[in-house]
Amino acid sequence: MHGERSMWGLTFRNLFFPQFCHCCGRRLLTEENPCFCATCWDLSPRVERPFCPKCGRPHPPAANFSTRHLFLCGPCAAGTTALPFRRLYAAAIYDRGEACAIAGAIKLLKFGGRRGLVAPLAEELRRVIATEMDPDQYDAVIPTPLHPVRLRARGFNQSELLAEAVAGAFPRARIERGLLRVRPTRTQSRLRDADARRANVRGAFAVEAGAIRKGETVLLVDDVVTTYGTVSECTRVLLAAGAGAVDVLAAALAARSAPV
Ligand SMILES: [Zn+2]
Ligand SMILES: [Zn+2]
Repeated sequence: MHGERSMWGLTFRNLFFPQFCHCCGRRLLTEENPCFCATCWDLSPRVERPFCPKCGRPHPPAANFSTRHLFLCGPCAAGTTALPFRRLYAAAIYDRGEACAIAGAIKLLKFGGRRGLVAPLAEELRRVIATEMDPDQYDAVIPTPLHPVRLRARGFNQSELLAEAVAGAFPRARIERGLLRVRPTRTQSRLRDADARRANVRGAFAVEAGAIRKGETVLLVDDVVTTYGTVSECTRVLLAAGAGAVDVLAAALAARSAPV
């Protein structure tokens, strides 16, 4: 009965308010994803094995494309990147911009307020959690915070919505909102070099007293990792607050940008 009713609702909506895929323009006939068709979504590039277990970037296809084993990339193996988190996991590749449905979904969620896209993005994160992660080890799931001014303007923190949507996959973890953005920052990817990006995020984050207990293993959740500057600075602040280890989970990763 309920199924019948919702089918009529869908038919009605399709008739009077047709929705079209933001990638290919085809008409959408299901409600699972409010903005993208299944074909465009499935064609979005994912982070697939083999990838670097530290910075999360996939290895170029030429290098050991036959192996599914994980191995460190050159910079991470050489230790020249000094990324403070333990491991970074990302679901999709962000580099192709509008051509990629998942990257487009993150932009529509953030800048277009399309909260219906949280569900399909969270589904991508759950796939990574199930196939690549050990979810039992985490004590806290922590969204990358927005500055209160930006949060008021946007009405929601997209990283927090994603963290809430996947929190159930971590049996021992609480959602911890005690990581705060105490100083507004500029968009990291628009800054010219590593020094400018480091200066931009330095002192931008703080942890509320008592939010992290000593030695806890925490998972930082972000929508997009572009330059590693934001997640690295959040990690430093969480480690300074007592965390024993910090991993990062992102919906998408700008894989072409080298870790700094
Ligand atoms: Zn499409
Ligand atoms: Zn690496």
